[in-house]
Amino acid sequence: ASGHVLMRDPRHNKGIAFTDTERDAHYLRGLLPPATFSQDLQEKRFMHMIRQYDVPLHKYISMMDLQERNERLFYKILIDHVEELLPIVYTPVVGEACQKYSNIYRRPQGLYITLKEKGRILEVLKNWPERSVQVIVVTDGERILGLGDLGCQGMGIPVGKLALYTALGGVRPSACLPITIDVGTNNKKLLEDEFYIGLRHNRATGKEYAELLDEFMTAVKQNYGEKILIQFEDFANHNAFDLLTKYRASHLVFNDDIQGTASVVLSGLVASLKLIGGTLADQTFLFLGAGEAGTGIAELIALEMSKQTNDPVEQCRKRVWLVDSKGLIVESRKDSLQHFKQPWAHDHEPVRELLDAVNAIKPTVLIGTSGVGRQFTKEVVEAMSSFNEKPVILALSNPTSQSECTAEEAYTWSEGRAIFASGSPFDPVEYNGKVFTPGQANNAYIFPGFGLGIIMSGTIRVHDDLLLAASEALASQVTEENFDNGLIYPPFTNIRKISAHIAAKVAEKAYELGLASRLPRPRDLFKFAESCMYNPVYRNYL
Ligand code: NAP
Ligand code: MN
Repeated sequence: ASGHVLMRDPRHNKGIAFTDTERDAHYLRGLLPPATFSQDLQEKRFMHMIRQYDVPLHKYISMMDLQERNERLFYKILIDHVEELLPIVYTPVVGEACQKYSNIYRRPQGLYITLKEKGRILEVLKNWPERSVQVIVVTDGERILGLGDLGCQGMGIPVGKLALYTALGGVRPSACLPITIDVGTNNKKLLEDEFYIGLRHNRATGKEYAELLDEFMTAVKQNYGEKILIQFEDFANHNAFDLLTKYRASHLVFNDDIQGTASVVLSGLVASLKLIGGTLADQTFLFLGAGEAGTGIAELIALEMSKQTNDPVEQCRKRVWLVDSKGLIVESRKDSLQHFKQPWAHDHEPVRELLDAVNAIKPTVLIGTSGVGRQFTKEVVEAMSSFNEKPVILALSNPTSQSECTAEEAYTWSEGRAIFASGSPFDPVEYNGKVFTPGQANNAYIFPGFGLGIIMSGTIRVHDDLLLAASEALASQVTEENFDNGLIYPPFTNIRKISAHIAAKVAEKAYELGLASRLPRPRDLFKFAESCMYNPVYRNYL
């Protein structure tokens, strides 16, 4: 092919790293400056440049530009600097990028499926240039992080998530397809924004919505076959639970906000037992927020507790309490509760405020999944610290602005006793001469390895036991040194190894359950996982 074409294709482009021989072989001579850089030098130069930007959104834009220009360099850089760059391509900066997506829009990323394409979705899928897609992350943009309805601008989320599938989980970039389903938006500001890139009307609901989604789900399976993994992401909870229930028996689907989050948080809780003592069943849990994340985590906790104690899951649920926007979820509210909240309506008098609920329930673990910042006040954290030697406090809402409290608040108000982790990263905190490093309780730990495990084993359905296996695998990766530092998650630096462990455990469980179709089963699943992982080092074009 002519070099010009090679250079324009981000999958093949190496920029100034094309060697002299490659330049001659592919008619590139003269099209590049005379120096030839190694990939490492290009990486060094890029990091030098990006560190000079003060505005995080500028870092995001230059990362996205690099992804569109030179894919291998993008992934090499993301893998080698994961701690530094995860907050850029993922929460919190991806949240700001979505809020401003129409304004910073340059080139299309991913696939847009809208009401305009009703009846033609299969045709649209066929327009995507890659044939061998293995994983789709799809959103309808209605609940982007804790930022609400961002309509079509939600595309930043599937794009970012799939970048992590590759960087953290080693799934080939060409196997990843980000999709945004645009059924309109109820966000007034966007509807009035002249630059808005999405459909300019209110959201379709009911039958119109259900039919579009059904056509989509059918077309995906028709086009890519039985083993395409579909990850639902950032749907509002009035659709998320129903979609999962409707498609989990016929498709290979999972909802990351419900199930991925649950797996990650359970892992952190199991790990935290090493620090606080006792078993899972010895704990009392209180959630602020009873939506996808809250009830998803709650259910997986109850499931694991039930496996450990042999008590029925209904009984285990009684150790878990949730507060929603109307207060503690109790029996007397049952008739007016959405179905996913009903299992959590326990016998108790009504309690309106979180602080009162904390004092009434006396939880050992407090988890924020409300999407609303600043809810874990000084009084709440102090109450938790008054009846717990080491209160476990997880502020999971994203992005940083929505976190239920900051790391500094958790450590200060608990006088350095809290076991704290948050959804978006916080810097280490110094309190009383001691440095506390907060952990990040984020699904990025699980979904990339989880997806790899499913893909590499040809698993055809997601079973709850696979989520438990992933959770256990992650918890087993926390080292003594991490525990000594109060951490309940390993650092992201070794995430590819961690992902390979998760993939191996997930695959092992899938084979055990008869859900894996890749035969014969590879003997060493960890080694197999590592061997499947995408390597972004340049290839020779000779
Ligand atoms: P969701 O389904 O919309 O649930 C939100 C819940 O919070 C609802 O139950 C809502 O109450 C409740 N709520 C809202 N405002 C409240 C208030 N002022 N006081 C008490 N409760 C309140 O959302 P979700 O999917 O669970 O996500 C929630 C948050 O978790 C988001 O910020 C998201 O970014 C974050 N999240 C983090 C991770 C992670 O990896 N760390 C993963 C997934 C989600 P009603 O039901 O009464 O409306
Ligand atoms: Mn999400």
